[in-house]
Amino acid sequence: MKITVYLDYNASAPVRPEAAAAVAQALAAGGNPSSVHAAGRAARALVEQAREEVAALVGARASTIVFTSGGTEANALAIESAVAAGARRLIISAIEHDSVRETAKAAQVALEIMPVDSQGVADLGWLADRLARWDAADGRPFVALMLANNETGVIQPMAEAAALVRAAEGWLHVDAVQAAGKIAVDSHSLAADTLVVSSHKLGGPQGVGVLAFGPRAILSRRQHGGGQERGRRGGTENVPGISGFGAAAKVARSGRDEIIRQAAWRDAAAAQLKSAGAVVMGETAPRLANVLCVAMPGFASELQVMALDLAGVMVSAGAACSSGKVKASPVLAAMGQGELAGCGIRVSGGWNTTEADWARFVEAWLEAYQRHEARRAPVAAGVY
Ligand code: PLP
Repeated sequence: MKITVYLDYNASAPVRPEAAAAVAQALAAGGNPSSVHAAGRAARALVEQAREEVAALVGARASTIVFTSGGTEANALAIESAVAAGARRLIISAIEHDSVRETAKAAQVALEIMPVDSQGVADLGWLADRLARWDAADGRPFVALMLANNETGVIQPMAEAAALVRAAEGWLHVDAVQAAGKIAVDSHSLAADTLVVSSHKLGGPQGVGVLAFGPRAILSRRQHGGGQERGRRGGTENVPGISGFGAAAKVARSGRDEIIRQAAWRDAAAAQLKSAGAVVMGETAPRLANVLCVAMPGFASELQVMALDLAGVMVSAGAACSSGKVKASPVLAAMGQGELAGCGIRVSGGWNTTEADWARFVEAWLEAYQRHEARRAPVAAGVY
C-alpha cells in the first residue's frame, strides 16, 4: 500500500477529531440560534461558546468577533468597511493573500504596495516615510500587513508596524490566518483595528472565519438580513461550522507545542535539500515552525509538486490557486527572487504531522530531483 504524506496544512489542515465531533453534535442537535425555544437556545449557546473560544485564541473580547464564511470574507469585510468609513488610499504589503490584494484592487480607491526585503519582511522604513507624507484628503491611513505569510511562514514585525500606524492614527488590518494557533496572537497588544482568522487553517471545518475588531474600527453591514452578528452579517449562522471552529480554536490554543516541535524536523529537511543546492526562502527571518518554502534552481515548481504527488507526498507550489493551475509565486517575486520564483515549493506541517512525514518528504524529493537531473543531463550534453 502506498504511504501518503500530507504536508499542505497551510492550504487546509486536516480536521481535528475534536472539531469533527463538535460539527457532528451541532448537526445532530439542529435548531436555529435565532429561535426562542429550547432548540434555538441550545444552538445559540453553541455559537456563543465558539465565539468565546475563538476570541480567547486571539486575545479579543467575544463581543468583538464577527463570524464570516472564511478568511476571504473577513478580509473583505475589513477593507470594505475602511473604504465605507472614508479611506481613499489603501496600503497593503506586497505579500498579502489574494483575498486582501484583490479586494483592495476592487475597492476603487488609490492603492499602494509596501515592499518587502529579500527575506520577505515588510519594509517599515518605507511605511514610516509614506505615513509621514500622508495627505489628510486621503482619509485615515489604512494599512494591511499579514502576521505570517502563507507561502514562506515569515512573521512580520507587527509591533513596530502597529506603532507606526497608531502614530498616524491609521487603521491596521492584520490577516492572522496562518499565524493563529501557531504563534501567540494577541489582537490587543498588536493594536490591530481588524484581525482575521480562518477555521480550516487550524484544524476546523472549511467555510468559517472571523473578523475581530477594535474600538476604532467602524464596521459596515456586510449582508442585510435578519440582524445576525449584531446586524453586521445577516443570515442564519453556520452553527456546525462555527461550533467546529470553536473546538479547533480551543485545542489549538493549548496545543502550540505540536507546532513548535516541527521546527527541528523542518530544519533537518531543509539541510538535506540545501546540500543538493536548494535555497530556503526567508531563512534568516523569524518564521512559523511548520513551514518550509524552498526553491531549486532549474526544477520548476509544478514538476516538483507533480513528482512528489506521484510519490504520495502532498505539498504545494506557492499559494493554492482556485483553478488548480500553478503560477510563479507573487510572494517570491516580491522578494526579488527572480527565476527562483517559479521553482519554489511550500511544505507545511501541522497538528498531526510526524518527524517521519518530513523524512519521507526529503526522501521523495531527493529521488524526484535525481530523476529530473538524469533527464536533463543528456539534453545539457547535446544528446537527444
Ligand atoms: N489569508 C491567508 C493568509 C490565507 O492563507 C488564506 C487561505 O489560504 C486566506 C486568507 C483565505 O482564507 P479562507 O480560505 O478561509 O477564505
